[in-house]
Parts: sequence; C-alpha cells; structure tokens
Amino acid sequence: MLTDHTSDNPAVREVLRRYWGYDTLRPLQGEAIQAELDRHDSLVVLPTGGGKSLCYQIPAILAQRTDVVISPLISLMKDQVDGLRACGYPAAALHSGMTAAEQKQTEREALAGRYRLLFAAPERLQNPWFGGMLEHLGVGAFAIDEAHCISHWGHDFRPEYRQLAALRARFPQASLHAYTATATQRVRDDIVAQLRLREPVLLVGRFDRPNLVYRVVPKQDVYVQTAAVLQRHAGQAAIVYCLSRTDTEVMAEFLRSQKVRAAHYHAGMEAASRRATQDDFAAERIDVVVATVAFGMGIDRSDVRCVIHAAVPKSIEHYQQETGRAGRDGLEAECVLFYSYGDIARWEGLIEKSATEANAPAKVVEAGRELLRHLQRLCNGYGCRHRAISEYFGQTYESPSCGACDACLGEIEGLADATVAAQKVLSCVARVEQRFGVGHVVEVLVGAKTARIRELGHDRLSTHGLLKDLDKKVVQDMVYQLVDAGVLGRTTDEYPILKLNAASWEVLRGKRTVKLRQAAAAVKTAQVEQDAWAGVDRPLFERLRALRQQVARELNLPPFMILHDAALRDLARFRPTTLEGLRQVGGFGQRKLARFGRRFADGIRAYCKTQGVAGDLPNSVAFRTKARKRGNAAHVKAADPRRQAFELYAGGATAEQVATQTGRARSTAWQYLENFVGDHRPGDVSRWVDAATYARVTEALRASDGTALRPVFEQLGGQVPYEVIRVVARHLEVTALGDAAPTGM
Ligand code: ADP
Ligand code: ZN
Repeated sequence: MLTDHTSDNPAVREVLRRYWGYDTLRPLQGEAIQAELDRHDSLVVLPTGGGKSLCYQIPAILAQRTDVVISPLISLMKDQVDGLRACGYPAAALHSGMTAAEQKQTEREALAGRYRLLFAAPERLQNPWFGGMLEHLGVGAFAIDEAHCISHWGHDFRPEYRQLAALRARFPQASLHAYTATATQRVRDDIVAQLRLREPVLLVGRFDRPNLVYRVVPKQDVYVQTAAVLQRHAGQAAIVYCLSRTDTEVMAEFLRSQKVRAAHYHAGMEAASRRATQDDFAAERIDVVVATVAFGMGIDRSDVRCVIHAAVPKSIEHYQQETGRAGRDGLEAECVLFYSYGDIARWEGLIEKSATEANAPAKVVEAGRELLRHLQRLCNGYGCRHRAISEYFGQTYESPSCGACDACLGEIEGLADATVAAQKVLSCVARVEQRFGVGHVVEVLVGAKTARIRELGHDRLSTHGLLKDLDKKVVQDMVYQLVDAGVLGRTTDEYPILKLNAASWEVLRGKRTVKLRQAAAAVKTAQVEQDAWAGVDRPLFERLRALRQQVARELNLPPFMILHDAALRDLARFRPTTLEGLRQVGGFGQRKLARFGRRFADGIRAYCKTQGVAGDLPNSVAFRTKARKRGNAAHVKAADPRRQAFELYAGGATAEQVATQTGRARSTAWQYLENFVGDHRPGDVSRWVDAATYARVTEALRASDGTALRPVFEQLGGQVPYEVIRVVARHLEVTALGDAAPTGM
C-alpha cells in the first residue's frame, strides 16, 4: 500500500529512519516536506491518518531550525509532544495548562534553540512576549494544524483561529503551512483567504481510505446490533457515536452489561472526567468510548479498529471525519452505520431548533437539510460506499468494486416479496384512514391488542396482524424505508402522520415495485482484513501487545506511543530476535531501539523457544529491496522459485498468489506451502486454512491411526482437498502437536 516518494531526498529518508524507523513516505508527504524546506506557503489536504504531522516534523529537524506549530487543543499538543519525545525528537508546547514556572523553563530552553518544534494555541500569538520570543528566534515557518477551524464553513469552527489572520502581517518573512483533512472547496478557499497564503503549493490527497470497510445496516435493535459488531472486535479499540448525551450513557451502560469495557463521553461532562475517559482509552484500560461528536480531535490512538454510528451523522463530511478516526495506522478497520429514517427526522428537528435559537436565516436551515439529504442518499444506495464517498468529495473512483463495503461484498440482502410487504403496510395506512403515525400503524400490522387499539376497533381491521410474523422493530424499519423511498408520505408536524401519495397508489395497484433491505445475517471478510493479518502469528501478537502495555506503564506513556500495531504485527510475522532484525522490520527509530528494543527481541526469542517455532524469518522489506536490486520480479522467478515462494508465504501470500507470481502450477505452490510450514513453523496457518477446517482436519487426523491420508480424506467426506490436509498435518507435526491451534478471526 505504501509507495516510495522519498527517493530523491536521501536526507529525508535518513531522518525518517532515525526518528521513526519508517522506510517510505506516504503520498504527498515528500512534496509537503519540500514546500516547508523551501519555505514556500502550502495548503496540505490529506485524509485523517494520511500522515500530516510528519510533513512539518521532518523539515524542522532536517534544517535544524525552530518551527512553530499552531494546534487547537491542549490535549492534542501534549500527545504530539509526548510522541515526539518518545522518538528522541526535541519538541515542546506552551499552553495555559502549564504552571508559570513550567512555562518560564520551556521559554528559556526554546530561546536557547533546544527545540525543533514549538507547539502553541492561536491565542498565544496575541501575547507580545511570545511574539517577541519568536522574532528573537527568527522563526521562519509556521505549521497550522487543523486549519479548517478557521472557517465558518467547516465542521469545527473555532473563533480563536480567526486571530491567525494577523500572522502574515506580524511575521511577513515567515512561510505559512496549513494542514487539514477537510475536503470541501469552500473551506479550502476560506483557509487560503483568511491566512493570506501567498501562491500556496496546493497538495490534495485522495480521500478514499481503502483500509476502512464500510457497512450501512438498517437500524432495528441498536443496542443488540452494536454489541454484535463489537464482538467482532473484542479487546480492540472502538468508538460508538450517538446522537445525544443521554444516548451515550445508556449505550455505555448496556455495553458494560455485556462485559464490554466501555465508557461514555460528551461535552456535558466535567473536564476532569472527560480527560479521565480519554486517558483510560489511550492507556488501553477501556476498549470502547461511547460518545457524541464532542469526542474527536483529541483522540490520537492510531489503532481504533471499529467506528460505529448508532445514529446517523449530520453529513457525509461528518461521517468521513468520524470514521476517519479508525485505522489511522493504515491497518484494517470496520465502520458500521446504523441507519434509520427516524434519526434523519431527529436531525431535521435539531437543525431547525438551533437555527431558530440562533436567529439564523432560512438558507442555513436549507443548507443543513441538503447535507442531510446527501447522507440519506449514501445510506439508501445499493452501490459501492467507497465510490459514493469519493465522488461526493469530487474525486473519481476507478475500481469497479472496492471489495471493502457491504455492497461490494454482496452483503446487502433484499427482502423477498418486498412489494407485497409494502402493499400490506400501505393498505394498513389506508385502513386507519391516514390519521395515525408510524407507531400505531406498526402495532396494528403486528397484531398488538392494546387498549387503545381495541378502543378504536382497529383489532377488527382486515390489516390487523398482517405482518404478525415479523418483529416490531423490523416492521418499523420497513415503514421508514418506504417513507425514504418516497412511496409513503409522512407529515412534518410535531406528531407526524402517515399519508398515502401518488406513488403509494401505484404500489397498491401493482404498477410499481419496491425494494426493501434487511439487516444482513452474516458479514463477510474483506480482502483488506485478511491481508492485514496475513502471516501474523496471533498468539505472539497478543504477547507482544502485553509486553508493549508493560513498557508503556513503566515509561508512563500510552501504548500506541511505544509502538504502533502495524509494527507489532510485523514483529509477529517475522519474529526478529536481534536489534538489527527489529530495525529492519520497521517502527523502531534509534531512540526506541535503544530504550526497549532488547526487551522485544528477547521476548520474541523466548517465545520461539517455548513454542518451537523459527525466528528471524526473511521479511518482505528485505525481499523488496532484493527484488529491486535484481532488476525485476521475472528475473527472481527464474532464479529460485522455491525460495521466492517462501518469501511470499512469509509475507502472507496465498497459494494462488504464489502460483501466479512464481509461474508454477497450483499443486506446486501448495507443495511449497507444506515445505514452508515444515521449515518455518508459523504459529498458525489461518492465512491458508480457515479455523473451522483446521479443527475438522485435526480431529480427523487424530482419529486416524495410520500415515495414509486417504482414510482422512474420506472421513472428511471428500470436502477438504489433499493439499490442505497435508498442510495441516505438517503444521501439527512441527508445532507441539496441536498446542498452536489457530486463533484465526
Ligand atoms: P494525520 O494527522 O494526517 O491524521 P498522522 O500524522 O497522525 O496523520 O499519522 C497517522 C499515523 O501514520 C501515525 O501513527 C504516523 O506515525 C503514521 N505515519 C505517518 N507517516 C508514515 C510513513 N511515511 N510511514 C509509516 N507510518 C507513517
Ligand atoms: Zn465497495
């Protein structure tokens, strides 16, 4: 996924390695770094997780100068400074949360030129003493993080950011570099104008996040549905977004009753308890934060594996921003949005209410509604979600299928006989004389016998109990889907009533068909999810995670600042047992290697010994370098297909991929896999054999007493091919006879 954009500047590469232990730059980072090195104004728009911070971190250290970073939140500044210091990078922040003595001390160090980056809030620039200090230091470049906060049109307007307009006049010689993840043209133009950027280099990245798997699911029982999704991410970091403060509290309570380590978060809480929840999350003491949109910018945890919207967000921008907090480490993450028309109606009410309160003109309400309608279209669509989001932001999406959304995975299930079901609903609306709302119509349809229904005589209607086999929530969702599709009307007053419209009559007369969605029974595994775990020794990964936790506690840092999950997974893939091996795997800069590299290497060595598995497997970075040196992959193929196959398997390739890339038959690729398993003893083989098949084959092998595989094949009803049986047999042989049962997903 990473492409090399570094090649023309070896000094950048050197710094990247030394401080962060990374090998390659991400798209546009090279260009953004160059703009800062040249001190040419720039506006850099990269999605969340795109790696904006490196763009201003590298130039300052490379040019040995002190640059200033403007950041909107103290917690953000603190996290960045802590993270940089853990890498041995000299940085500091000046903010109002520090004591006078701390501030004085930091200023002294800054004046002595000890820091490469100095973080400050926009208000501080008004302070003459601070301005004087920057002049004295000869600060030549300002990086403005979260630059969209300057714009009214953004989703995070902060009045303090307006003061940045004075920067240009105050420091006419300095270059200004704005960074944001917000995609809209209006906000971009606003940033350029407000900051008075001079012919800025404009760098706009791709908004698509290929590592996110999107799902939109009809909302029925959102508590149960949310818990079910979280079960797929047990022990992993997740965020659940709710619409109201009360909702967050109720949801968190429910999740705790399901043994999920969850806490709520909203703007109505005291600052101290908000901070406590953030800290608990960062330190991995809790896994799930249930929050309103107030939980956002301050989250630096890069390993969020799941973002759930228990209620629809306000716009696609908000959706992009909120789901953007998932998978910032570039690894797979799942985003599930529970959709209901009811929530759209709730938002409409809120938009109107806040507009009335603020005395805003009618066009503000209309603009809000328009954003909501785009979101509604995204949710109701049956097409690729990645494409829809990219196109919304004005970018084309080339691939016909993303392989990472519910539509492309073929999970969207239509209700059988949707038109007939729709007719039942519509005729019930007709029978109650178009005088009732959703709740009542649903009750009649499912055949409820409440006092009110009996009083009205609605239990004697022919439509009473027409859908009695369905759950009330399902019927309610169906009704809302019909409203969404425009084949059923709903008044907009305080107590909305269902009304038939022209389209309704077409459906009733059989002149129009209707599509209705069901909540999918089963979700599939996307390729990105498989790839991200390919070749990872899961038990080892879990142990390394525990080790990271321990080191983090000792150093009083959150675990993600010790090592990212991506690095941890690579360690669990290649099992390096030496410092040099760790360095090659990536994620260890010099400082981290010196501070705790030894412990990780020793931990891996001990694991290899007790589990009887090989360490120091050839890693794919080394392989890539080798392949490049030799000219091309075809040449490698001629050289030694078996060796190439081993390297590919170590990098997590499937047998099919190995067959294609080595140009050998499928059966030979499987033969190589068997040899690979024998020689390298991977902790688990779930990459090639799923957990259920592995268990079945193991059982059949244990039940057989001979060495012949035929009886085993037959006992499995001929459903498992010989080559798979051989791989499992080999694996059982080389691991301590079944102790290493795969922990696949
Ligand atoms: P953004 O601010 O754009 O949301 P960050 O700067 O926080 O993104 O970077 C997201 C994550 O990606 C961080 O954990 C960072 O260390 C990592 N990262 C950034 N650039 C690279 C790179 N070139 N190679 C590997 N990881 C990177
Ligand atoms: Zn798709």
